[in-house]
Amino acid sequence: MEWSGKRYHSLNHFLRNRFGEKVFKISLDAGFTCPNRDGSISNKGCIFCSPRGSGDFTFKCDNISEQFDKAKAMMRKKWRNGKFIAYFQAYTNTYAPVDVLREKYFSVLNKENLVGIAIATRPDCLPSDVIGLLKEINKKTYLWVELGLQTVKKETMRLINCCYSLDSYINSIKVLKEEGIDVVTHCILGLPGENRDDMINTVRFVADTNTQGIKLHLLHLMKDTPMMELYKKGDMELLEKEKYIDLVIDCVERLPKEMVIHRLTGDGPRDTLIGPKWSLNKWEVLNSIDRRFIERDTWQGKLITKKQ
Ligand code: SF4
Repeated sequence: MEWSGKRYHSLNHFLRNRFGEKVFKISLDAGFTCPNRDGSISNKGCIFCSPRGSGDFTFKCDNISEQFDKAKAMMRKKWRNGKFIAYFQAYTNTYAPVDVLREKYFSVLNKENLVGIAIATRPDCLPSDVIGLLKEINKKTYLWVELGLQTVKKETMRLINCCYSLDSYINSIKVLKEEGIDVVTHCILGLPGENRDDMINTVRFVADTNTQGIKLHLLHLMKDTPMMELYKKGDMELLEKEKYIDLVIDCVERLPKEMVIHRLTGDGPRDTLIGPKWSLNKWEVLNSIDRRFIERDTWQGKLITKKQ
């Protein structure tokens, strides 16, 4: 197969090709907050977002350099070889004055075996001085910026309280692309009130914007999130495994072959995940997706030239 035996263009394949060996991402919590939480835009946050701002797998430690070193040392116990990408994951990682951002990003830039930096943010948190800094970093190392889109359906955007517009997302992609910075788009499958067509519409939209990468997340219901209220009232359901597997393949069939798939499921911490519990067995889910690709005799981009 074209992609190291997979039927989709995985991040693992892309990074191995680019850097010649396995590359591990190290998730960091750089101590940011989010304008959707601190009251600047709203203080409620996106309804699915965990109290740790989706940074549940980071080491709890104020010093970013130390966080990176601790995570790296832990990984080295298991894998002797490999390179690293510092992943600024928790909350909104461009939401601070540019000198603060500079200090945080540069604190890991010269780490041994670091080959890149990934920065997760909101589309409405990329002012021109921040773009200038990202441009500078992009010249020093491999950089990608992750943008939460989640859905293009306006009613769902309102329901999940993401508090940014589709135009803001489109504009951010344009600016980042003009500066030669790779963009990875996050989409969530299984949001309340969405059916298969809604989710496929979102993925087709991302396919058309042709960002460099995409993350397809299974919606996770986490403890202490506003989404619990909807769930308790019976106003939403969690996806079943078999349905999700087919849905994810329906989406991947519509993505361009060159688009790198960074994620095909979700990673919820065992102690705070309410459901779907089947997702805790991530490798089993990924293996089931691989098997279903074969059973359906399909692959990434298969439907891209056909009328959808
Ligand atoms: S923008 Fe990100 S960090 Fe902020 S509330 Fe939404 S998911 Fe959480």
